[in-house]
Amino acid sequence: EENPLLQRQKQQESNARSYPRRIPLALKRARGIHVEDVEGRTFIDCLAGAGTLALGHNHPVVVEAIHKVLADELPLHTLDLTTPVKDAFVQDLFAVLPPAFAQKAKIQFCGPTGTDAVEAALKLVRTATGRSNVLAFQGGYHGMSQGALSLMGSLGPKKALGGILANNVQFLPFPYDFRCPFGLGGQQGVEVGLRYIENLLTDPEGGVLPPAAIIVEAVQGEGGVIPAQDAWLRGLREITARQGIALIIDEIQSGFARTGRMFAFEHASIVPDVVVLSKAIGGSLPLSVMVYQDWLDQWQPGAHAGTFRGNQMAMAAGSAVIRFLDQENIPAHAAAMGQRLRSHLHSLQADYPHLGDIRGRGLMLGVEVVDPSGTRDVLGHAPAFTKLASFIQNECLKRGLILELGGRHGCVVRFLPPLIITAEQVDEVAERFAAALKAAVQ
Ligand code: PMP
Repeated sequence: EENPLLQRQKQQESNARSYPRRIPLALKRARGIHVEDVEGRTFIDCLAGAGTLALGHNHPVVVEAIHKVLADELPLHTLDLTTPVKDAFVQDLFAVLPPAFAQKAKIQFCGPTGTDAVEAALKLVRTATGRSNVLAFQGGYHGMSQGALSLMGSLGPKKALGGILANNVQFLPFPYDFRCPFGLGGQQGVEVGLRYIENLLTDPEGGVLPPAAIIVEAVQGEGGVIPAQDAWLRGLREITARQGIALIIDEIQSGFARTGRMFAFEHASIVPDVVVLSKAIGGSLPLSVMVYQDWLDQWQPGAHAGTFRGNQMAMAAGSAVIRFLDQENIPAHAAAMGQRLRSHLHSLQADYPHLGDIRGRGLMLGVEVVDPSGTRDVLGHAPAFTKLASFIQNECLKRGLILELGGRHGCVVRFLPPLIITAEQVDEVAERFAAALKAAVQ
């Protein structure tokens, strides 16, 4: 018997959105890592707004910041005009950006969604370099509008649109260690991957026009929680710097302490040209920005307008999140909790060869579910087992654990819990996951 909210949603809301299909819940209340549905059942939320809720649901510092905007009758909307709230937000953000990047950086407010920041970045690099070509990566995810979608590495959502997508985007192999596109993996895979890119860009017979930019996620999220190796990112930075190509790092999902550093590109100690940010930056309210190096600041007034880029409540909430992450050293906490969850998952691997690959960084973790009885690939890894991943997700939900799937065949179980999760709560997540796994493989 479904409750009336879910029944009405089924009748009235298009089924095109994927979350309600996989997670059929009607939620009523939320606090910390927990959500409560309309029937009074509580769940641990390891989806957390697809990584948006860095401090979990309704964290006191976020709630207080939002209340204050209302209580003090601060302007809720100011277009691009500055306010004390906006000024504080920019100072708070710049204070946590690596100094080598922040020194010569400019910020643009882009709109409510991550996609808005990606669109803006695409336009900016094209204006600044006078080139129109852009390189992106297989498995990458940057948003659903037409410009951002044309950067998407997976064909599924693009297929039906064919002709209308930008055709000046080329795709490069992402250094996906477990399923190395060169059949190599490890250090060798990294080296060949870099050589491939360098060759494509320098060989006069290569057929790729000099690009305005290369856009990359330091940890691919939707693509299956795949971290780029530090050495590979450093190599990519060197290649792009030599060729005058802007390096855009998409930190929309991986940013703000999620991976154990404030920003995922910091693991590799590189200085990008553009960083696009959203999700956690608005403290659960919609906001996105791009921050970029001075040399790219070549837009004339009016080149990129937009009405809803001044959401004061999102900035106030975002400031509260950024300060909390910094003051409470949440990057280190996320790293420690991630390590704890990872060891639980590794001990399960001994009993369950279905957990083919356990990977990620900090509290951005993924488990690639495989079929141990299937035919192994060139690297000796068993094939993807999408159906089992889906069973596991279902069994988790029955046990009060919300998880989402991702990756090439939807076979990667993703863990994106709020970063304030405690050690006991991590153990609880692992316990529920283990019980679900046991039920799913039977
Ligand atoms: N880039 C990355 C890395 C993302 O994970 C997402 C959202 N999952 C986006 C861009 C797009 O953000 P939005 O859905 O807010 O448009």
